[in-house]
Amino acid sequence: MRRRDLKPGQKYGRLTLLSKAENKPCWLCRCDCGNEKVIRSDAIGIRTFSCGCYGREVLEQQHKRKLRQKYKDLDSNKDSEYYRLYHTWGHLKARCYNPNNNVYDLYGGRGIGVCDEWRNDYQKFKDWAVANGWRKDAKGMEQSIDRIDPNKDYSPENCRWTDASTQALNKRSAFLINVNGETHSITEWSRIRGVDPSVIRRRYHKYGMRGEQLFHPIPRSVRYADRNTVVFHGKEVPVVDLCREYGISDATLRYRYKQGWRDDKLVEKPKHKPVIKMEYEGKMYSISELCKNFGFKETTLRRRHARGLDVYGNKIAG
Ligand SMILES: [Zn+2]
Repeated sequence: MRRRDLKPGQKYGRLTLLSKAENKPCWLCRCDCGNEKVIRSDAIGIRTFSCGCYGREVLEQQHKRKLRQKYKDLDSNKDSEYYRLYHTWGHLKARCYNPNNNVYDLYGGRGIGVCDEWRNDYQKFKDWAVANGWRKDAKGMEQSIDRIDPNKDYSPENCRWTDASTQALNKRSAFLINVNGETHSITEWSRIRGVDPSVIRRRYHKYGMRGEQLFHPIPRSVRYADRNTVVFHGKEVPVVDLCREYGISDATLRYRYKQGWRDDKLVEKPKHKPVIKMEYEGKMYSISELCKNFGFKETTLRRRHARGLDVYGNKIAG
């Protein structure tokens, strides 16, 4: 290819040639965005059409498109009206296939599974649910998925949507708890005493509480029965004393101890990182919000902020 004749004032893409560099095959160019940059002559108008701002804009557009996909269309988004349905799907798979699930024994453990169609494809499950009486407006426990034959899998043929009380009656053997001579299922007790069913369940199974205790907070002596003291500078010291003396919360101290922090480090006052806020689509957000809600990476944002750049790595105007 013949060598091009580059002259000051010529324009390639966003670049305007200003002057040739001395002793180097490069030109000083001005970009439409205002940046000036030295660029190799053989790249100008061939590989390079801007100072780099064009590429960044393209990436920015791609990123925004991806986020829109991810956060507007997906039912896993908390704002989605199908959020509850999405989690129902997740829960039923977990009951059947995750041995760590707290009711796995009653499902997967008994050989109950989810049909392949549903297991592998949320959309198929959703289509069935919507066509078969799933209600957007039902809340929490008001409506749940029920297997007609409790010994068969989750599948379109064996499932229906029912309100919570129908389901309790149909259970293979409803789990009943007797308190002061009255017998009810956990769901019913929850309604009668106004305590969340998962709380009652945890108190019953994990902490072995019975009777009236089930409806009252777990006493500290029970909750922390396994560890009320920690080793501090070679001595067994009650957790409560350390918390009081050093002004640290119980939860923080226990968490640190579990993480292997000891002695002086264990009781150090927590340092709070200053909250950094950055602009995104015209609003200010903290870095953790940006990461949680819009899929940014924390380290990237911290670096960009430290360099005075915006969330996409562009110079902040003005
Ligand atoms: Zn530029």
